[in-house]
Order: sequence, then structure tokens, then C-alpha cells
Amino acid sequence: MTECIFCKIANKDIPSKIVYEDDRIVVFHDLQPQAPVHVLIIPKKHISSMDDLQVEDTELIGYLMVKVKDIAAELELENGYRLVNNCGEDGLQTVKHLHFHLLGKRKMTWPPG
Ligand code: 5GP
Ligand code: ZN
Repeated sequence: MTECIFCKIANKDIPSKIVYEDDRIVVFHDLQPQAPVHVLIIPKKHISSMDDLQVEDTELIGYLMVKVKDIAAELELENGYRLVNNCGEDGLQTVKHLHFHLLGKRKMTWPPG
């Protein structure tokens, strides 16, 4: 999708600090980090949100989830981390390309705001 900012990041049309990439996913540092480590994990395929996932995306999203522990290990989050998805208006999703926030290196609070 040409107007999507995360598609542009995946295509390297706009710069980002990429920490991991393969043929299916990209991981890059969030522009406004909410923790000492805050990266975004996205599928390269444009999927607007969790609400837009199709059965055909099962393998892709399963793959992304299985990669989380490797990314966390690479970022030295051995003490734990939080994985967050914001979906839709009430979820405060601002970028309409499915992404998972991986946050770490600080003690999180619960419930989230
Ligand atoms: P959301 O609120 O949609 O769950 O999260 C979107 C995230 O994308 C925010 O944490 C925001 O800081 C980040 N973000 C928005 N635009 C850019 C950008 O151009 N580059 C990077 N690296 N992060 C961005
Ligand atoms: Zn996109």
C-alpha cells in the first residue's frame, strides 16, 4: 500500500532503525519509545489491523509470533518484556498497518492505561 508509512519503512522508502528483517517481517525501533527498548514488529504484507486478519494469514502471523522470543533475546530482554497490539479506535491504534509493540528493560505496570 503506497500511502502506508509502515509499508514505506518495510520498502526502505523512509528510513528507520531496523533491528531485524527477513522475507516476511521487519522489526524497527519506535520513533517515540515508551520504554528503554521499544521496537515494532510488522509483517511486510500490508494488513490494516488485527480485525483485518484472514485465515490465509495464519502461517504469517504464527511465524511472527514464534520470532518474538528470538527478537527479545537479540535485544537482551532476558528479564521479560511486554508485547502489545493496539486495535481500532478504542485500542488507540494510530498506524493502520498491523504491528506489535515489543517493550522491555523496565518494569511494566498493570492494568495498562
Ligand atoms: P499504534 O498507536 O498505532 O499502536 O502505534 C504506532 C507507533 O508507531 C507509535 O508508537 C509511534 O511512535 C510509531 N511511529 C509512528 N510513525 C513512525 C515512524 O515514521 N517511524 C517509526 N519508527 N515509528 C513510528
Ligand atoms: Zn502498510
